[in-house]
Amino acid sequence: MDFSLTEEQVMVRNMAWQFATNSIEPTATGDDNAEHFPQEIIGEMAPLGLLGSIVPQEYGGSGLDYISHAIIIEGIARASLSIALSVFGSHSVVEEMLMTWGSDQQKQRYLPLMCKGELFSCCALNEPGVGTDVGNFGSWAELSQGWWVINGEKVFVVNGGVSTLILAVTKVSKNGGERGLGAFLITRDVAGFSSQDTVTKNGLRACNIANVYFRGCRVPQENLLGSIENGNKIVESLLHGINFSIAASCVGVAQACIDASIKYAEERQAFGRTIGKFDMIQEMIADMTIGTEAARLLTYQVADLKTRKQPFSKQLAMARYLASDVAIRAATDAILVHGAYGFGKDLPLERYFRDVAEAIEDGGSPLIHKLTVARHALGIS
Ligand SMILES: Cc1cc2nc3c(=O)[nH]c(=O)nc-3n(C[C@H](O)[C@H](O)[C@H](O)COP(=O)(O)OP(=O)(O)OC[C@H]3O[C@@H](n4cnc5c(N)ncnc54)[C@H](O)[C@@H]3O)c2cc1C
Repeated sequence: MDFSLTEEQVMVRNMAWQFATNSIEPTATGDDNAEHFPQEIIGEMAPLGLLGSIVPQEYGGSGLDYISHAIIIEGIARASLSIALSVFGSHSVVEEMLMTWGSDQQKQRYLPLMCKGELFSCCALNEPGVGTDVGNFGSWAELSQGWWVINGEKVFVVNGGVSTLILAVTKVSKNGGERGLGAFLITRDVAGFSSQDTVTKNGLRACNIANVYFRGCRVPQENLLGSIENGNKIVESLLHGINFSIAASCVGVAQACIDASIKYAEERQAFGRTIGKFDMIQEMIADMTIGTEAARLLTYQVADLKTRKQPFSKQLAMARYLASDVAIRAATDAILVHGAYGFGKDLPLERYFRDVAEAIEDGGSPLIHKLTVARHALGIS
């Protein structure tokens, strides 16, 4: 078992972290205050290959492995969780769904544009009355005269207000009866589509989150992703993609908390010494460091299993649970390390806390991931 990064992974890390430090970090707090989604920064990520990191080169992507993908997500989330969720918790997940379930025609049509940032995308699952109980949707798709006609509402959709391509999962009916779940590729310009940005957000304020509405949207039959028979598997893999990204993002936020806490502990003086000399401050920094490294290694293990196309759902549930727990604790402790300044707007710590507290619900609450671990352990299906 070799835990060292390859030369290519080190290069990817340096590139992503440098981009995040130079191009994302300087404006991250300002964008959060202004509730500004920085579309211009997303545009800068395309030429660096960051909008298609796992997409094969034949479709215009960078063709990287999942450990590189996790490293990139971590580096971007360290600067801005809003951008990490937008690009990797949403857009990249749609790319992954196309790679896994798409027809050749769908891959050719969408992936090159998505890697260039000319199509930006989102995943629309959740509904006003349906969250964890995914699949029990109220939205419907019905075949009518050779077209899918889609009706329904989806909520909390990351990129919902700015996407040009929406991957929406609905129930599918045939002759009035229920037939399963369908995942549909819907472009924003289709008649009957609209969106409404979420206005009350305490965290992820630089992330576009919206409700999206389908009112008699007609899409061609070839816009069904995969098959209805595989509807449940498609939903499962979609949630896997989102949760892998959240795990890596949480590692990034936790690392930002460690970096800020160490810097402050080495500068701030109390009782004639730097506060890093006090045991309780050291303990908080040690806890953050241990937790973050454990969550990172679990996330890399998932990445390795994904790259080798091995089953990973138990490891993912562990990584996702641990990473979100570690990130929340690290953000809380980092505020404590910074004393009264920790909760002020001049430092990014309160933003880390608000962002991570909001993000850990995406893809299912931590409770659900803990439940999944328990079910694996107990052999309950
Ligand atoms: C920042 C953010 C981004 C999001 N992005 C997207 C997106 O891009 N696309 C999208 O479709 N959705 C998105 N969501 C929605 C997200 O996936 C849901 O919030 C999540 O699935 C939980 O659903 P819910 O909020 O309706 O909670 P509910 O399902 O109502 O659950 C409420 C509570 O009950 C618990 N619970 C529910 N069922 C069980 C059970 N069987 N056993 C034990 N406990 C249970 C849950 O853990 C939770 O704590 C996002 C949410 C957030 C906060």
